[in-house]
Amino acid sequence: MINTMPVEGIAADPEAKQPVDLVLRNGRIHTQDPARPVAAALAVRDGRIVAVGDDQDMAPLIGPQTRVVDALNRRVIPGLNDSHLHVIRGGLNYLLELRWDGVPSLRMALWMLREQAGRTPHGQWVRVVGGWTGEQFAEQRLPTVSELNAAAPDTPVFVLHLYQSAILNRAAIRAIGLTRDSVPPPGGQIVRNHAGDPTGLLLAAPAATILYSALAKGPKLAEEEQLGSTRHFLYELNRFGLTSAIDAGGGFQNFPENYGAVMKLAEQGLLTMRIAYHLFPQTPGQEFDDLRRWIATVRPGDGDEWLRLNGAGENLAWSPADFENFTEPRPLRPEKADRELEAAVRLLVENDWGFRLHATYDETISANLDVFEKVAPKLGVPWFFDHAETVSETSLDRIAALGGSLSVQNRMMFQGGAFRDRYGVAKAAAAPPIRQMLDRGLLTAAGTDATRVSSYNPWLSLEWLVRGRTIGGSPLMSSEHRVDRETALRMYTLAGAGLTGEANIKGMLKEGCYADLVVLSDDFFSVPEEDISHIESLLTVVGGRIVYAAGEFEGMAPPQTAIQPSWSPVAFFGGFHHTVPPTMPSGVRQAQAVVEAAAESEEHRQWRAVRGFGEPHASEEEIFDSCFVL
Ligand SMILES: [Zn+2]
Repeated sequence: MINTMPVEGIAADPEAKQPVDLVLRNGRIHTQDPARPVAAALAVRDGRIVAVGDDQDMAPLIGPQTRVVDALNRRVIPGLNDSHLHVIRGGLNYLLELRWDGVPSLRMALWMLREQAGRTPHGQWVRVVGGWTGEQFAEQRLPTVSELNAAAPDTPVFVLHLYQSAILNRAAIRAIGLTRDSVPPPGGQIVRNHAGDPTGLLLAAPAATILYSALAKGPKLAEEEQLGSTRHFLYELNRFGLTSAIDAGGGFQNFPENYGAVMKLAEQGLLTMRIAYHLFPQTPGQEFDDLRRWIATVRPGDGDEWLRLNGAGENLAWSPADFENFTEPRPLRPEKADRELEAAVRLLVENDWGFRLHATYDETISANLDVFEKVAPKLGVPWFFDHAETVSETSLDRIAALGGSLSVQNRMMFQGGAFRDRYGVAKAAAAPPIRQMLDRGLLTAAGTDATRVSSYNPWLSLEWLVRGRTIGGSPLMSSEHRVDRETALRMYTLAGAGLTGEANIKGMLKEGCYADLVVLSDDFFSVPEEDISHIESLLTVVGGRIVYAAGEFEGMAPPQTAIQPSWSPVAFFGGFHHTVPPTMPSGVRQAQAVVEAAAESEEHRQWRAVRGFGEPHASEEEIFDSCFVL
């Protein structure tokens, strides 16, 4: 069967004893079940898979109410699980943000900014908060403050670049009240001109607090809009085949205040992704009190299969946290870090709370391990390190002995250039040392650390795991630490399920497991490596429900709610930029060409305006006009 339209409700068998809710047939299903690695069809009842096999095996299970979907011989995989995603915070802000994720040129990025500034109401900001870097742009650079001023003379613009810097236009400097007398928080730097006035550039040196506290001064969405924003963000993640994530807490993500949106959606059965979350103490000096209060009121495991508390972290206290700004030297560990971490870990272990812990450098990891070993030879609770870019073999052995696991992300895809410049090619080739993690049998899950450094698009991370290159295509990770596609996918599914104690029920397409699966636009196992990052989902199913459908499957998912506020950048630009691999239909190519042309003509208009020319006549619109040659 090639290229037939997906048909629903065919082949109903009135004799079917216990008809199923959904049958997916004619697929190339990669099950990750060692007992049956390949299948063509599967059946779903009450959110779980009840049969896996060939098309004919499903016939007796199809009743009049069964929805039958033809997968059109496409590749089907278990739903992806990002083991380190700031999904809750990302959801609260998604509809406020202009995403530059995947935008191919700075020219286009600035055009988007200009367009968005034009429709942004007075008092609101335009913010670009992570997910991009200058290396992805054809121009290979960041925007300048004056470019932001030109694009948005009156609307505050805040552009966050990784955890390294924020670029603010003049209106944003005014809006956050930054003056020549402003004092930066510890570890932050306000760049000033000769007169001593802030230029608009804020630097994490190396602490990112300065960037976040500036961002936190912007307007927020109303509570009702935060619900819609979260739903649209989850839908955007479904677009790339994500069906689960483990939330890592994060700065300004207070519990329980900022968990209202996901909790309400969970109550109403409106989550389209499964979220396991961690609790992250916010205030330096009060971390222990926060942990104690939470331990008294909630427990890991609270919730259900859609939204569940998984433990503490990724910070347990601020003092042991190392900031991964590779343009700056590694931060020194404050003296009190060991003491504060020990108190937190003892408290957690005594109360049977698992945790995750942010740690970039081996120096941090080995100091943390000293603390853990002091608490107990084996911690006896589920725990894992996040990031671990420079973890040593000795530390990996100690992690294994203490019963720990790991969660790695493609941060080097975005920051690898800065890392290589500071630490050299050899170190960058093994950052993180994935092969050594896997060889020790350590549970090693994959993810992104989105949304403020990496993009949330899991296919960038899957490409990085396989190809080991930066977002600009420059080689970084040695072949020793790159993994084959089967391994990469297991790290992005089963391993994440392992970190939440769900490895027996999630990440595999077999009888009894959650019906979380994805029909892919291109076959992950056979596309050229450099095209992995262009893959999207065409059909995403979570718990047996179709939550996202595109291409030949369009119309099969319930319609999305309207985007509020109506001026949201997402209403005009969507989320991750639609990339255009050569295989994309010509309609998408044309849409891209129109956007490129609009960006180009605006640049042309400005070039003329600056030089005192009037508006161009049609006859002057020559493609070889000098401004295109510059
Ligand atoms: Zn982290």
